[in-house]
Amino acid sequence: MSVLDLARPEIRAMQPYSSARMEASGGRVLLNANESAWAPPGDDALGCNRYPDPQPQALVDALAALYGVRPGQLLVGRGSDEAIDLLVRAFCRAGRDAIAIQPPTFGMYAVSARVQDAGVLEVPLAADFTLDVDAVLAAVTPAVKLVFVCTPNNPTGQPVPLRDVERLARELAGRALLVVDEAYIEFAEAVSANSLLNRYDHVAVLRTLSKAWALAGARIGCLLAHEDVIGLLRRIMAPYPLPRPCVALALEALSPQGQVEARAHVAIVRAERDRMARALAGMPGVREVLPSQANFLAVRFDDAGATYRRLLGAGIVVRDVQRYLQLGDALRITIGTAEENERVLAVLKNPAMDSRGFSEGPAIGTHA
Ligand SMILES: *Cc1c(COP(=O)(O)O)cnc(C)c1O
Repeated sequence: MSVLDLARPEIRAMQPYSSARMEASGGRVLLNANESAWAPPGDDALGCNRYPDPQPQALVDALAALYGVRPGQLLVGRGSDEAIDLLVRAFCRAGRDAIAIQPPTFGMYAVSARVQDAGVLEVPLAADFTLDVDAVLAAVTPAVKLVFVCTPNNPTGQPVPLRDVERLARELAGRALLVVDEAYIEFAEAVSANSLLNRYDHVAVLRTLSKAWALAGARIGCLLAHEDVIGLLRRIMAPYPLPRPCVALALEALSPQGQVEARAHVAIVRAERDRMARALAGMPGVREVLPSQANFLAVRFDDAGATYRRLLGAGIVVRDVQRYLQLGDALRITIGTAEENERVLAVLKNPAMDSRGFSEGPAIGTHA
């Protein structure tokens, strides 16, 4: 059996769009794509008057080396969000097929499924937020084509042990594609599931430059998977998904100097995360700090709503996750600079202080 037997037959059969850039490359006089012959103002040698390469080889090669896969096992898209959407569209027939998720977890899996009119089978995490492998396996029906596992999980922060991921992979063979979302793995002690790719053609891994690599604004994410899955998704992907300026920024980030910088920032985040976890645990109004291996902390409060508003009043925006299963009293706090984190602690330390107590000084972390 091929992993493609799990995919939508109409996608396997369709004739993909063939862009000008795909049909012919090379040549000096480019008159095949109805582009402008003149670079736009401020172009700075990027060549933005030309459509970009659909999958720029230099970027594919750099990412494949970074993630330890062959270039053919990798698809670069507009964030891993795009890869999630492409997977759902390629594998789930509208009104018939489904995905499986373990709430509380990242919201985009369900959103992409709903857009495709695919079902969403929810198998909640256990009370301690670990993944219940037996429960997932027992729940997966023939309609489920994709099983998403987020490790470390957003918004709880815990990784799924690789042996659990591998057990899922073994048991799901021939039944569903296992999609392991490792958006935060750079901040964790965990081992990537990329080691499973050569043994299981129905395992896929999501990686992103949005978190540890400081490129959320450039929208660069990857799917690592069997060559056949990559080939299938390329058939339905937008013809030119990667803007030239974004590719240039990603190559810069992946340069030796960029890698040194990214690793230094990851080390700071990990140290600050552990410092914040200890400090928050002793704060008035804090019930529990969930153990996290990501770049955020999920924190339970006596009154999460009031805490959210108090932080907001001080110019600090955190994520209200009270609507998530089992997190009705929690906020998710991203780890910032040491100075930003101190501001959080200062607000929480003094419950009596209202927003005006923090209106002095320059705002940190506010958005335009
Ligand atoms: C942030 C996040 C993503 C999305 O990343 P992009 O590459 O920016 O689209 C994917 N999965 C999880 C769990 C995330 O938290």
